[in-house]
Amino acid sequence: MRLPGVTVRPITTMTGEPELAEVFYDDVRIPLANVVGGLGDGWSVAMSTLSFERGTGFMKDQVELARFVDELVEVGRDRTDRRGRRLLDDEAVAARLATCRAECAALRAMTLAEIGRNAQRSQPGPESSMMRLFGAELTQRVRMLAVDLLGDDGLADTAGRGWTTQWLHSYASTIAAGAKDIQRNIIGERVLGLPKGR
Ligand SMILES: Cc1cc2nc3c(=O)[nH]c(=O)nc-3n(C[C@H](O)[C@H](O)[C@H](O)COP(=O)(O)OP(=O)(O)OC[C@H]3O[C@@H](n4cnc5c(N)ncnc54)[C@H](O)[C@@H]3O)c2cc1C
Repeated sequence: MRLPGVTVRPITTMTGEPELAEVFYDDVRIPLANVVGGLGDGWSVAMSTLSFERGTGFMKDQVELARFVDELVEVGRDRTDRRGRRLLDDEAVAARLATCRAECAALRAMTLAEIGRNAQRSQPGPESSMMRLFGAELTQRVRMLAVDLLGDDGLADTAGRGWTTQWLHSYASTIAAGAKDIQRNIIGERVLGLPKGR
């Protein structure tokens, strides 16, 4: 459906998916009754929405990521390297898998704590940026580990399990919902109370 004054320009990501779009509103007028949060309050509404997105909004992805790490542990048990040694018998691989599993549990604990805090107040606070930053960088570590486990076969695995595609896509996680440096600024200024950056 085309709406007057609204132009949608689809954007294809580096993994070839038409996942994003830019939406332009030219001279679009909205009835006053449809204003969310009151006139002139857009920044506060946007910040509140983003805090939900950065915090509990990624819960589904957290559950999927934790399951994926379990799947990787199984791959480590089943797969052997060129010398016929089980991947999981490589101490470095085992340590990376264990760390990822522990970090998924830590992220889940952070999310549960955030849900508890949100139950006591009307909107989420700046600590949602900690969850977003930690979760995004953890996603990248896990997806990198998966491609490392596949070894040379990994780079060709764009169709099958799509682990290479997921690894490429993980680069978006430190951009979407606010780039990682923005999250660090929020954590520094609003969680830790450090002086404002210039
Ligand atoms: C997969 C994906 C899905 C998305 N989905 C949506 C969506 O559904 N809806 C939507 O509206 N948008 C969506 N976006 C857009 C997303 O919100 C923005 O891309 C994101 O907020 C970053 O903004 P930007 O692209 O303008 O980059 P910028 O914020 O301009 O950042 C550019 C670079 O400059 C750095 N930078 C910027 N400011 C500072 C600073 N103050 N200090 C230090 N470094 C800084 C950043 O870290 C980054 O490296 C999506 C993006 C992706 C990748």
